[in-house]
Amino acid sequence: MLNLSKYERKRKKGIAIATAQLLFHIDHDVDPNQDIKGFVSILMNKTESVATAYGWTSGSELAQLILQEGLDTGEVKLRLLKYKNKSRLADKRRHNDIKNSVISYLSNYCQRSKTYEGLIDQVQYFPDFKYKYLDSGVDIDRENIIDIMKTFDEKDRMYILKNVNAEIDRRDAGYSLGDELEKYLNDIGQEYGIESYIDEFEVDGKNYFSFKIFIGNRGILSSFNGTFNELKTALAEVVRSESENKVTCPFCGMKIVRYVAMNKIKNCECGAEIVITPYMVRKRGVIYSRTRISFRKPD
Ligand SMILES: [Zn+2]
Repeated sequence: MLNLSKYERKRKKGIAIATAQLLFHIDHDVDPNQDIKGFVSILMNKTESVATAYGWTSGSELAQLILQEGLDTGEVKLRLLKYKNKSRLADKRRHNDIKNSVISYLSNYCQRSKTYEGLIDQVQYFPDFKYKYLDSGVDIDRENIIDIMKTFDEKDRMYILKNVNAEIDRRDAGYSLGDELEKYLNDIGQEYGIESYIDEFEVDGKNYFSFKIFIGNRGILSSFNGTFNELKTALAEVVRSESENKVTCPFCGMKIVRYVAMNKIKNCECGAEIVITPYMVRKRGVIYSRTRISFRKPD
């Protein structure tokens, strides 16, 4: 039963709103330009209970009410157009989310392609791994991706192709800059025996980098806002400061770069054995692992 106001104007509006909600529930594509007879014939004989803003009701119950009290078809039309618009927007948003999930999935594994079909052809070589996309709520793997890709129209296909290629370019730019940076740091470090290794390197825009880099014993997980050359200079400084981090052999007084003593040699030139002992330190409640280097000579 509908819970309607006893004031006529509010009551009429309530009936119109409940009617629009029920009609939309029965059929999202209902024609809003109908007269009372048209709407009543849709509602008639529908006995399913549906929740409206004014409580639960059914089509047949509402049809009876309309026949007794009339219907503001103008209000019904207005509401129906609003619901349709809203659901079209929601569909569009969902459609875009799925498109973006497909782009993100494809650019994990695809090589550049001139055509959309060229992207589809590459799917057979993808690893068998399922991705969960939270924005669209879609799971994508190599089993279902082709079916999903076939649902898009020509305009969407061009959009996906363009964005997958752009994503691949961005990734490749990151790879080649990362390689360049690694080589640069190793060239500088060579003199001191310090090796650098780039674990992750991403370019975001022109002047923003995020990376995970190991320089000697130091791991750096960070991001950098500046040009690539400025980043190279900043990291070269780290190589140099690592090269100044030295230990001294108590037997002959030779200074050895700490990284070299820890990773590359077992003995000092004088023959003293280099002993590495890991230990833990607690600082403000956090436990850090450290390494002590000592030198030992047989008696
Ligand atoms: Zn020595």
